[in-house]
Amino acid sequence: MKINLETIQILKNDLSDELLNHYSLCDLLAVDCEMMGLSPVRDRLCLVQLCDKDEKAALVKIEQGAKSPNLKKLFENIKVKKIFHFGRTDLTFLYYWQQIDLVNVFCTKSASKLVRTYTDKHSLKDLLKELLSTDIDKSNQLTDWGAPELTKDQIKYAAGDVLYLIPAYHKLIELLKRENRLEVAEECNKFLPTLAKLDLLGYVDFFAH
Ligand code: MG
Repeated sequence: MKINLETIQILKNDLSDELLNHYSLCDLLAVDCEMMGLSPVRDRLCLVQLCDKDEKAALVKIEQGAKSPNLKKLFENIKVKKIFHFGRTDLTFLYYWQQIDLVNVFCTKSASKLVRTYTDKHSLKDLLKELLSTDIDKSNQLTDWGAPELTKDQIKYAAGDVLYLIPAYHKLIELLKRENRLEVAEECNKFLPTLAKLDLLGYVDFFAH
């Protein structure tokens, strides 16, 4: 795994203006979040990871109660396509903790489900192994992301979750085109912010009878 710790920028509570300007000019941006747990109202958002196509990665560590206006500006910028893996969770936490109403998103997990119907393995690890022959280390997934200082292993893990998302996105777009499912994927992605809001309202299966 080619992660160079020296090149990863670590910021407190928000993006710098310089990074906001840089990422705002990107067509594609990989994004992931780490939280204290999986319950959006109970568990706070701890870390937001970003990476562009040139592997310029930044980790924004968010303290209890802090707001991130530059992240909000970037994520609400319709010109930048934000790529997540299972964006449903990230969007829910970003909406609840930062009041960020994301637009122009792409979820690699739902795209994978639309085209890789020969398998039920749609985790990021499985997806990257197949599409990019890359094996990412998920051993730090269940660690304390709210601790005041991140460990080196946490930094590597957090950056690893965004470093390969843009290359995976390109592969998935090819597959979606090949299988004539690009349009339905786009419709799913458009609905994702609404799904996050329905989750927060407590609906389990909104369209069920
Ligand atoms: Mg992650």
